Amino acid sequence: MSAVWEIRQRARPVAVQVSVAHAGPVARARYSRSVHETRRFEGPSDLHLHSIHSDGTESPAQVMAAAHRHGLRTAALTDHDTTSGWAEAAEAAASLGMTFVPGMELSARHEWRSVHVLAYLIDPDDPALRAMIERIRSSRLERARLMADRISRDYDLDWDDIVAQTSDGATVGRPHIADALVARGLVRDRAEAFSSILSPRGDYYVALYAPDPVTAVELVTGAGGVAIIAHPAGRAGLLPMPLLERMLTAGLAGFELGHRENLEPGIRTLERVTRERDLIVTGSSDYHGLGKPNQPGENTTDDGMVARLIGRATGTSPVYP
Ligand code: AMP
Ligand code: ZN
Ligand code: FE
Ligand code: FE
Repeated sequence: MSAVWEIRQRARPVAVQVSVAHAGPVARARYSRSVHETRRFEGPSDLHLHSIHSDGTESPAQVMAAAHRHGLRTAALTDHDTTSGWAEAAEAAASLGMTFVPGMELSARHEWRSVHVLAYLIDPDDPALRAMIERIRSSRLERARLMADRISRDYDLDWDDIVAQTSDGATVGRPHIADALVARGLVRDRAEAFSSILSPRGDYYVALYAPDPVTAVELVTGAGGVAIIAHPAGRAGLLPMPLLERMLTAGLAGFELGHRENLEPGIRTLERVTRERDLIVTGSSDYHGLGKPNQPGENTTDDGMVARLIGRATGTSPVYP
């Protein structure tokens, strides 16, 4: 954790010097006026990408390189329930001249359905948030073992197959089991695995422990971060309005409305809520490398929204090139 902190501390003064040295009088005035510099990044911005620290298929540096190839100037790494990829991503982004926004996708659960809360610019050392992600991650491991046990009764697959698909210390998830099933030739790809053997409606599914969505938002805001509901209008439909109200009271900042899994009319409804409450709206790819068809930059977040998001956070800062 301290590594990214050090990078940030190192990157910041350097970036300021560079900007001032190359800036004209107007720009210089702007930089010196706003010390928290909410406008130092450049778009286009993609704020939701995954690496091998969770269920993406590329290293954080490769993810930043992919973002760069797709023309992005600002990118976040949002691995599930971990911040362990930040340092590598920050360094890679800086070397590519991009702004890095540290993030995480925190698992939550409402009744039977999983809810993903994007957590931007959190303090990675916040004790309450750390304790929660440790708890979720160990439950994920236990759950993957249970699912492997169940699957191995009917299919030729064991725990080692899953370990072989998971990089050291990564947040384990069903995608790693899917990759093991693919490697064994039991399914064609992750999508087929999810719609068959790994389906929540099937015999092999085990739920993971995750906090309720209000607690998740409280933890994110308590760690100085900005909480945004990921893909809030997906196939499962919108969360009930009273729950959304409680999440907003807990500090929920907005919705990821630009995401390929969102559907009408849910998008319309949330657009109305965002307008009425003046919330933050993001758009992102949810890139997982080869694990999903999603490509970096297929959805992006407007500069003004990125600035608001950065301006609202107190947990940590973006890492500027
Ligand atoms: P888990 O949190 O372990 O239950 O797994 C859910 C993760 O699997 C999510 O982060 C998704 O990105 C990924 N996922 C869900 N459905 C699919 C799919 N059809 N193809 C590939 N990845 C998927
Ligand atoms: Zn994922
Ligand atoms: Fe998600
Ligand atoms: Fe995601």
